Amino acid sequence: MTMTDAIDHPASFVYDQALIWDNHAGFESRPDVDLSQLNHWRASGASFVSVNAGYDVRPWTNTIHTLAHVRRWIMARPNDYLLARNTADILQARSDGRLAIAFDIEGMEALDENIDMIQLYYDLGVRQMLFAYNRNNSAGGGCHDEDTGLTPFGRSVVEEMNRVGMLVDCSHSAYRTTMDAMELSESPVTFSHSNPKALCDHPRNITDDQIRSCAATGGVIGINGIGKFLGDSIEPEHYVDHIAYTADLVGAGHVGVALDYSDGSDDLQDAITGQSNFWPPQWYSGKMEFMAPNRLIDVVDIMLRRNFSSEDITGILGGNFFALAQRVWV
Ligand SMILES: [Zn+2]
Repeated sequence: MTMTDAIDHPASFVYDQALIWDNHAGFESRPDVDLSQLNHWRASGASFVSVNAGYDVRPWTNTIHTLAHVRRWIMARPNDYLLARNTADILQARSDGRLAIAFDIEGMEALDENIDMIQLYYDLGVRQMLFAYNRNNSAGGGCHDEDTGLTPFGRSVVEEMNRVGMLVDCSHSAYRTTMDAMELSESPVTFSHSNPKALCDHPRNITDDQIRSCAATGGVIGINGIGKFLGDSIEPEHYVDHIAYTADLVGAGHVGVALDYSDGSDDLQDAITGQSNFWPPQWYSGKMEFMAPNRLIDVVDIMLRRNFSSEDITGILGGNFFALAQRVWV
């Protein structure tokens, strides 16, 4: 790209320089998940996406089967995809034009109350795990349930995650559980895909207090692209509102992208409709809508118009989560 291009198309210029890291996909975690939707990230020039491999809504064995399926699918397509074990793999994928993938797990039911499972999941490619998916479990409280703190089991999980090098994730969990975990963890933590409650008062979103505590650990907050958590909008302008609010509160170096995107949204809609205990209807009525990865270029354009520096933008697009992984993954 020439200097003229940089002046005429500044958003493209910044976007093309950046390493694009989407910290959470919103697939329906099951062994027959349609993985052709990963093409949305490839087509958008992303170098990394964290694929959700399981959640508390399904039995823990479902997580193992989903991991087996996704890993096999990726390994059968070595020209396009790469299973990321470390940040060097992600740089390699970027230089090859491939998409690197690691996994996250949404809820500690996947451990089947067995601490030994953490190392096993890590070895299978899981790099972050959150406590409780909306409802309470043996590790802690969910954001749509009674606000219990971290349990003794949850505390031992944090210690083991720190030892193993798996990122402690506070999304979907209740306030006290998140504050307990952030106080206990010796490594930086993340809210992998959570938005500021100050802009959209939804129980899945997080308070200024939680955002500040996460940043104080050296962590990163991934801004979610689901309309319900942005304020019934999937417009890039509103997405940037959430980025800007969080960056003003704790600094742009603690903000990242986590779109929670899926093009199989009917699957999620069916799950939500059938499981009101996990998704209370007063908070999940109406259609789920997602901002797609191809809107990230518009997000960059808007950030430039709002006077974000190109350094801050490349950090938010991926540099911040990359640096966090360099510190936490081993
Ligand atoms: Zn989630």
